[in-house]
Amino acid sequence: MKSKLIKAGADLRRKQANPLPVMEQFYTLQGEGIWTGTPAYFIRLAGCDVGCHWCDVKESWHPGDDQYLQIEEIVVRALASGTDRVVITGGEPTIYDLSLLTKQLHEAGLKIHMETAGVHPLIGDIDWVCFSPKKFLKPQPEFYQKASELKVIIFNDHDFPWAEEHAEKCADHVQLFLQPEWSRRNKFTAKIVEYAKANPHWRVSLQTHKYIDIP
Ligand code: SF4
Repeated sequence: MKSKLIKAGADLRRKQANPLPVMEQFYTLQGEGIWTGTPAYFIRLAGCDVGCHWCDVKESWHPGDDQYLQIEEIVVRALASGTDRVVITGGEPTIYDLSLLTKQLHEAGLKIHMETAGVHPLIGDIDWVCFSPKKFLKPQPEFYQKASELKVIIFNDHDFPWAEEHAEKCADHVQLFLQPEWSRRNKFTAKIVEYAKANPHWRVSLQTHKYIDIP
């Protein structure tokens, strides 16, 4: 299963930068991390080779043939939302060469954020990188420097020391967040709050969009 996912990811990486597979795109609020509450247009690329067992968008792992969109179309739709900010997410966006997409988004005057597990070298120009490493596929070392924020998902108690290992490798400017995995929020939110109080280099991130039932 895992090796099949990694092979599928390698096949996707060999593809051109245009068109790109988009699972969905929508205008909403950023629900997590330091930009919580900020309106942004989300571009969810399809394709992921990380394979988190608790993933809440497993339908994004394998792009469908009918999901490919020309970059010009993606940019037009983002601009039509009226926002000045997009979030490229996935799936795992570093599978793709994003240079053309980010060039055209910037030329349209949009700021670009990215949510990534950082498992492949970043190809593209991103203004804000939310780096969320996963245990299931090792991140590229470059993300400890390129990250603007580090967001570690807490699924069990072992994830606290694992989060510290990643925080130690990050550049000083990186904002550090712990976030409960949604299905475990009842067990871990209070623990994360106590952990952040005892270790104030961390802040708490919640999936606020899920609490208020927006995309
Ligand atoms: S990296 Fe993201 S999209 Fe990929 S499996 Fe993990 S949670 Fe799901």
